[in-house]
Amino acid sequence: MLEELKQANEYIYSKLNEKNKLFLELEEYAEIHNVPIITKEVKEFLRFLLSTGKYKNILEIGSAIGYSALVMSKALNDNCNITTIEIDEERYNIAKENFQKSNNQNINILLGDALDILPTLNDKYDFVFIDASKGQYQKFFELSYKLLNENGLIFIDNIMFRGYLYKDYPKRFKTIVKKLDSFIDYLYQNHDFTLLPFGDGIGLTHKKVTTFRKKDS
Ligand code: SAM
Repeated sequence: MLEELKQANEYIYSKLNEKNKLFLELEEYAEIHNVPIITKEVKEFLRFLLSTGKYKNILEIGSAIGYSALVMSKALNDNCNITTIEIDEERYNIAKENFQKSNNQNINILLGDALDILPTLNDKYDFVFIDASKGQYQKFFELSYKLLNENGLIFIDNIMFRGYLYKDYPKRFKTIVKKLDSFIDYLYQNHDFTLLPFGDGIGLTHKKVTTFRKKDS
């Protein structure tokens, strides 16, 4: 099964032919400097989802060097607003440079711990992309869910943490694995949630509209 999944991914990768110079440059930078960025299949899914044009006000937790923020912006032809939060100052500065390189005016990056910044945000968002420290996922989720518009979507990347939620893992990851596993239970029990087994595991949940107006008969 694992071997088949690997082959399926290779097949998908062979169909994806990235030509955007900046994206290629950032992928190379991430590889050389060991910066974790979204995988190709997550990038493709994210691009596809956002290109529906349904989600325009976007919040990202974990910018790294700005790659996924640029992917999301491009999916919407820059016709969106993105707020992205990064705790690491060096990465924050690189991300800022990358946004400038792409002449991007619609991405606002904030430096600091998302746990401190999220409660200070006054805006509402249609789409939240969570991609930061795995041990804090439930807190990121709870804080950003408050900022989510009705019908908005939360996309949680790497929720199965390198597959450690279902296979043997190094002891040092025990706390993170337990936290993520109970977060997944919480999501299944309290939200409309689905778990997709690709990339490092993707979790999707949306804020349901609470009232539906009946159509006049
Ligand atoms: N989304 C990026 C992409 O695909 O291009 C990759 C993000 S990387 C997986 C995770 C980033 O989250 C790191 O750069 C890390 O410094 C940042 N981070 C971790 N904990 C954070 C926190 N509490 N608040 C803000 N950023 C955080």
